[in-house]
Amino acid sequence: MKFIVIDDSSTMRRIICNTLERLGYDDVIEAENGLEALGKLRDIDVIFTDWNMPEMDGLTFVKSVRASQSFSTIPIIMITTESGKPDIIEALEAGVNNYIVKPFTPEILREKIEKVLRK
Ligand SMILES: [Mg+2]
Repeated sequence: MKFIVIDDSSTMRRIICNTLERLGYDDVIEAENGLEALGKLRDIDVIFTDWNMPEMDGLTFVKSVRASQSFSTIPIIMITTESGKPDIIEALEAGVNNYIVKPFTPEILREKIEKVLRK
């Protein structure tokens, strides 16, 4: 199982990666923004992406992935501070499979991963 964590904050990437490792997922790569991530999606099983990032934000990234030939079916979990209902609806309509609001617990991360992998 290979994951990618996309966030412009290196601290947040470390927190997410450490949490994933504690949950038993240790094959995790990172990207600083959506644009960098688009070149790293080969063999990825689950994508974790932030919303607010320079170069390419999470919403634009999600739309690009869903429109792509090769990667359109990869489950995407958005991890963000944008917790308003319109934001969540916009993300889901763009093709996000699930949504985590920062800060989050390891238990929540585990639940969301199991949910998207079950589909
Ligand atoms: Mg950010």
